[in-house]
Amino acid sequence: DRVALRTALLSVSDKSGIVELARALHEKGVALVSTGGTHKTLSEAGLPVRDVSELTGFPEVMDGRVKTLHPGVHGGLLAIRDDAEHVAAMETHGIAAIDLAVINLYPFEDVRAKGGDYPTTVENIDIGGPAMIRAAAKNHAYVTVITDPSDYDTLIAQLGDDAATTFAFRRQMAAKAYARTAAYDTAISGWFAEVLDTPMPRHRAIGGVLKEEMRYGENPHQKAAFYVTGENRPGVATATLLQGKQLSYNNINDTDAAFELVAEFPPETAPACAIIKHANPCGVATATTLVDAYRRALACDSTSAFGGIIALNQELDGATAEEIVKLFTEVIIAPSVSDEAKAIIARKANLRLLVTGALPDPRLPGLSAKTVAGGLLVQTRDNGMVEDLDLKVVTRRAPTAQELIDMKFAFKVAKHVKSNAVVYAKDGQTVGIGAGQMSRVDSVRIAAIKAEEAARALGLDKPLTIGSAVASEAFLPFADGLLSAVAAGATAVIQPGGSMRDEEVIAAADEAGVAMVFTGMRHFRH
Ligand code: 5GP
Repeated sequence: DRVALRTALLSVSDKSGIVELARALHEKGVALVSTGGTHKTLSEAGLPVRDVSELTGFPEVMDGRVKTLHPGVHGGLLAIRDDAEHVAAMETHGIAAIDLAVINLYPFEDVRAKGGDYPTTVENIDIGGPAMIRAAAKNHAYVTVITDPSDYDTLIAQLGDDAATTFAFRRQMAAKAYARTAAYDTAISGWFAEVLDTPMPRHRAIGGVLKEEMRYGENPHQKAAFYVTGENRPGVATATLLQGKQLSYNNINDTDAAFELVAEFPPETAPACAIIKHANPCGVATATTLVDAYRRALACDSTSAFGGIIALNQELDGATAEEIVKLFTEVIIAPSVSDEAKAIIARKANLRLLVTGALPDPRLPGLSAKTVAGGLLVQTRDNGMVEDLDLKVVTRRAPTAQELIDMKFAFKVAKHVKSNAVVYAKDGQTVGIGAGQMSRVDSVRIAAIKAEEAARALGLDKPLTIGSAVASEAFLPFADGLLSAVAAGATAVIQPGGSMRDEEVIAAADEAGVAMVFTGMRHFRH
């Protein structure tokens, strides 16, 4: 099943490694054909190379928009070599077989990421390249297609004295080729969705470009890989790993949860810190200094924070780094890091440190997706912000200014807690978090129990939920949840409202003398 390469067509935008590859091919007796820019690079390197216009009998026209879109090229890629009719057609029309296509595409993704202007970005949509890649890949029974410069060495290693490739290799490269063209069109579709400013899932293809393969997935027997979608959103997908081991599947998932949560707190308002375990926060706090924000986040549940992920809404400084390294932490993610902090973190070789350059805008639209058996569920991001909502006081007592601040803080955090989510907060600090229960009243109780444990750990004689505000990310369906929160010491309640029994819940709140507001917006997260 080895097929000897006689003619290779090279047409690449990313010219790295192309001269070395072409030289290796030439030395094996493979004839070289190229498009304009690639032709220039190869002939300047002293290699004999023909111009693709010799195959097409047609010059490159329209600024390169049409260079290879011609039967002289596509016939040479698609012909079935042992089909008499195909061979006859080649002879009749003077079409020469092309055995190897080395193609990489106009750098659409790079131009988009750099924020190229409209016409430049459009011009970087490659047409002939994907057509040739798809043609060569379809005909992998005979043709070898290479779309990634990192495969040049493997190709060279394949070529024995017969300058041939195996079927197994050609098929693998064909699979990779279609992954490449699919990702390319996905990037183009994603750009259009951004330009149209439409978050509608039906306006864009879902998918991404392979960034890295992980050692395993959520569990060691699962295989996993990380794909990036090319959105202009600072976060774990685009972050730089300054130190530490490669991130695992679970690390990436948790780090994303951590950074998206901390991004809810604008750095100009106050330093903020979120600590995440298993995609749920175990502590979130703001303070006047970053190190205090970290200490206060940790105080909420210092037991769970062990081995957690820490996200910061501003530059990691030396004082905070010094405090963080006292405890075992998996990952730190921040917009930036000071040199002093870098040196302190370096003492913990395994601690992963990620910098993103900026915080994402929580109000930006975008898509989120999850798989179900046989399908993908796609929706726009939950970009609702409590500051933008029309809060309605529903109790006789209105919240005090401080209660209102605590309520909003708690509701913001609840948005990032798996449902059913209940968060108690006081003075810019979570004091009890109940996550992921099937019954809301259980989340209310668990959050209170966690608060009691935290108080014991801190040596306090009463839990911090006394005098706190409590948030529920979805409506309280019965009065029991409210009463349970009041029993834990909450004096203010924030929830979407909209239950059939709202009247009953409001009456219970009035009787207990607590203030309650309705947000009108729910933040389910499953
Ligand atoms: P070169 O630098 O050799 O002039 O051009 C190489 C690039 O042109 C490659 O990225 C290849 O995918 C692309 N390309 C090849 N043929 C065509 C074509 O007919 N139309 C367009 N738009 N791009 C092409």
